[in-house]
Amino acid sequence: MAFTLRSRDLVTRIINFLTFVDLPIRKKFVLFGIGVLFWFVILFAMIVWTLVDINTRMDDIARSYVPQNRTAEKIGLKVNEVRADALEVLGAPNVRAALARTAIAMKRLDDIASFLVVLEQGGQISDFQRDDDALLDSYLVRAAARGSKVNELIRSLREAVKKTRESFVLFADSRTGALSGRPVPPGQTGRTLGELKAGLARCSALAVELAAVTGQLSAGAADRIKFSIRCTSWTSLIVMAIAFSLLVLFTFWISRSIAVPVNSMIEQVRALGEGGIGDRKRIEIDSKDEIGQLSNDFNLLMEEIREMAAFKKVIEEDESVEDVYSRLGRTFSESLGFKNYLIYEVSNSQNKMAAAYPLVREGDGIFCNPEILDQCDLCRAKKTGHVISSIDYPGICKQFRGDINKDHVCTPMIIGGSTGGVVQFLFERDGEGMSNRSRRLFKARQFINESVSVLEAKRLMNTLRESALKDSLTGLYNRRFLQEYTDTLVSGNARRGKSLGLIMCDLDYFKQVNDVYGHAVGDTVLKETSDILKSAARSSDLVIRFGGEEFLIILLDVNEGDSLKVAEKIRQSVEQTKIRVPDGILKKTISMGVSEFPTDTSGFWQAIKYADVALYQAKESGRNRCVRFKPEMWKEEQF
Ligand code: GH3
Ligand code: MG
Ligand code: MG
Repeated sequence: MAFTLRSRDLVTRIINFLTFVDLPIRKKFVLFGIGVLFWFVILFAMIVWTLVDINTRMDDIARSYVPQNRTAEKIGLKVNEVRADALEVLGAPNVRAALARTAIAMKRLDDIASFLVVLEQGGQISDFQRDDDALLDSYLVRAAARGSKVNELIRSLREAVKKTRESFVLFADSRTGALSGRPVPPGQTGRTLGELKAGLARCSALAVELAAVTGQLSAGAADRIKFSIRCTSWTSLIVMAIAFSLLVLFTFWISRSIAVPVNSMIEQVRALGEGGIGDRKRIEIDSKDEIGQLSNDFNLLMEEIREMAAFKKVIEEDESVEDVYSRLGRTFSESLGFKNYLIYEVSNSQNKMAAAYPLVREGDGIFCNPEILDQCDLCRAKKTGHVISSIDYPGICKQFRGDINKDHVCTPMIIGGSTGGVVQFLFERDGEGMSNRSRRLFKARQFINESVSVLEAKRLMNTLRESALKDSLTGLYNRRFLQEYTDTLVSGNARRGKSLGLIMCDLDYFKQVNDVYGHAVGDTVLKETSDILKSAARSSDLVIRFGGEEFLIILLDVNEGDSLKVAEKIRQSVEQTKIRVPDGILKKTISMGVSEFPTDTSGFWQAIKYADVALYQAKESGRNRCVRFKPEMWKEEQF
């Protein structure tokens, strides 16, 4: 399987190399154009070569072989005429007639000799009618090729003509001798005529052969022309077929490498526009050109969009803001490789900020002046709402107390129009490349941006919940909170195996305050009292506004008898507190009933009732006192 994949890979790479798929688009098309031009040039060269070849051969035929052939035929004719001249001389009635015919024959033989010279060296052939010296024909002939058969025949013919001429002279001499009565050896005329005939026959045969050879040369050249045309036609056809197939292949491959990814991108962008980013369709990357790079970047982008969408979905489903902070933090460390970072949560109403993830002990483990925690406007990123980066401006924030070899980048989280948090990232100076750092920061900011809206919604929900569970006048939890919280409280207590102290408080003669000073002063007294109760109790204890001017204090993890002591301490604080009212100073007292759960009863609400019973006893026995519940106080029928 792996081998098949690898060999497929190899084949793709080879095809990519041959079809220029990996080259940049511009180069690809330039090479494509050069490829087309190459095949055109080859075709053009072939056609030109063929035309030149045809032209040369046509020229040979027209200027060499045809005139040579014509001359050979003329020589044949002239030889026949000389033969006729010999017969004329033989039958001449007198010496004059014999000499005149001999002279004509000599001219004819001279013509043949001059034709042979022109055939050998090239030049003008001028053919005369030797009976009256009229010019019959005149044309140009090119010299026969050296060392050719034609050349050989010319030489032989010249020899034969020379011999025939000598034979003719001897024959004419013998014949004129006989006619003039000069003694001629018997049989000489017959012998010389025989030699002349033999010479003429040889000349004829050679002239015929010369005509045949030049005729053959002509036919050969014509055949070569035909062959050239046939060859060129077939080669052109094959070259065109190859070029066409290659062009089709290239066009298909290149258009495929462009069209497939682009169509896939269009499809995914459309799907994204319609809100569908669920399916993980990656674009197959077949090339290393711009399209390949674009596909790769597009895949990364889609991956990021999907990652962000998945992240947002998960944090939306998270229970609390703390869960969101920890998930965001884990993303920073696990996905983006940040080693040092801190997420701060800002409480604008209290001008405070605190490390929300990773959780650190107050002041310790943070990289800034701890004063920013209580005065969050000291934090530059919080105050300005801008990214504060010591990479861009070294020493930009004077609150930074971290390692001087580290850079810090503080990114504000803008929630509901103001800075609701700050994320601080620390980097080793020169620890990594600039681009890698920017990329990680960019991605981190994307995650922060995704969380901001979720954090805003969750914080709003928290505020709403808080307001439903808290009393607006005193800021204390209300009875509804207690009802919701009971299960957690009771099960936590059972797990720890401890007791809860329940102190029910009621201000003494509070109605009088309202009556004498008015309702507003009454409210002030209630607020002051709640502050005293809060400061007297430990931070782990719960102070609840139970009713109008009744408060319930729940003490966690108490030992038997502790609750009464705490109650007494609180009672004294109230007694000693001077409450400033418009008309002067007011002092109030408070009565308290104390019970313990599960020491007094296994029912939590029953224990509260017992505290109320004890409070009733405190009121009854004179007020401004604390009374510990005793079982004998509980008379079922009374309640
Ligand atoms: P005692 O408890 O000592 O028996 O006397 P008391 O005067 O405190 O009596 P009671 O507990 O019956 O009075 C409660 C009064 O508290 C009644 C009501 O007018 C007043 N009150 C309840 N809630 C508020 C509040 O939110 N603001 C103000 N100003 N008064 C309140
Ligand atoms: Mg009351
Ligand atoms: Mg009262």
